[in-house]
Amino acid sequence: RVLPQTEVLGFERNGPRIASIQTSKGTFRAEEIVLAAGSWSPSLARSLGLRLPIQPAKGYSIGLSNPATPPAVPLLLMEAKVGVTPMGRFLRLAGTLELGGLDLTINERRVDAIRRRSREYLEGLDALQELEVWRGLRPCSPDGLPFVGRPGAIENLIIATGHAMIGLSLGPITGKLVAELAARQKPSFDPALFSPDRFAS
Ligand SMILES: Cc1cc2nc3c(=O)[nH]c(=O)nc-3n(C[C@H](O)[C@H](O)[C@H](O)COP(=O)(O)OP(=O)(O)OC[C@H]3O[C@@H](n4cnc5c(N)ncnc54)[C@H](O)[C@@H]3O)c2cc1C
Repeated sequence: RVLPQTEVLGFERNGPRIASIQTSKGTFRAEEIVLAAGSWSPSLARSLGLRLPIQPAKGYSIGLSNPATPPAVPLLLMEAKVGVTPMGRFLRLAGTLELGGLDLTINERRVDAIRRRSREYLEGLDALQELEVWRGLRPCSPDGLPFVGRPGAIENLIIATGHAMIGLSLGPITGKLVAELAARQKPSFDPALFSPDRFAS
C-alpha cells in the first residue's frame, strides 16, 4: 500500500527495534522500515539516535521548449557548470550547488546565472519558451558516498539516502540492494563502503 502526501512524524522504539511509525495519517507497524527521505533524513535519523551527516545542496533547473534541432546527447558545459539534457518533450538546463540548509526558495540570481552562462555556449536559447523553473535538494555526504545499509543499533531499519548529484542514476541499484537487505538475502555486492554507521562517532 502506498500512502502519498503522508508525513512521517516520529517513531516508537521497543529496544533495538522500531515498534511503530507515527505519520500524518495515523500510526503504522512494519517488519522493516526504509529511511529514504533525502536531505530530510538526518532529522528523522536523529530522532532514532543516529547520526547521518548530510548537507542539502540546492540545485536549479530550467525547462525550455524544444529547439528545432535539440542536442542528440546531453551536454556538460564544464566552465559554466551547467548540464544540458534533451528530455524528449523539452530541453533542461541544470546547475548550481547552493549550501543553504533545507531552504527551498528560488534564488533568481542563481537561475539567471544558468540562463546567462548557457547562452554563451548555445545559440538561439532566447527564442525558446521557458516552461518551468525548478529547484531541488541534493543530499550530500562528507565522503561523496551514499548511506545504504542497516545501522548497527536498530534491527529493523534500512537507510538509503545521501546520493548527492546522482540519486536518479543510483536509484535502481539502491532499490536492488535495499530489497536484498529487507529480504535478509546475501547482498549481490558488499555494501560496507556505504555503511550508515561510518560517521557515527
Ligand atoms: C538540479 C538537480 C539536478 C539533478 N540532476 C540529476 C541527474 O542528472 N542525475 C541524477 O541521477 N540525479 C539528479 N538529481 C537528483 C538528486 O541529485 C538526488 O540524488 C535525488 O533527488 C535523491 O533522491 P532521494 O529520493 O534520496 O531524495 P529526494 O528526491 O530529496 O526525496 C526525498 C523525499 O522524502 C520526502 N520526505 C522528507 N521528509 C519526510 C517525512 N518526514 N515524511 C515523509 N516523507 C518525507 C520528501 O518530501 C521527498 O519527496 C538532480 C537534483 C537536482 C536538484
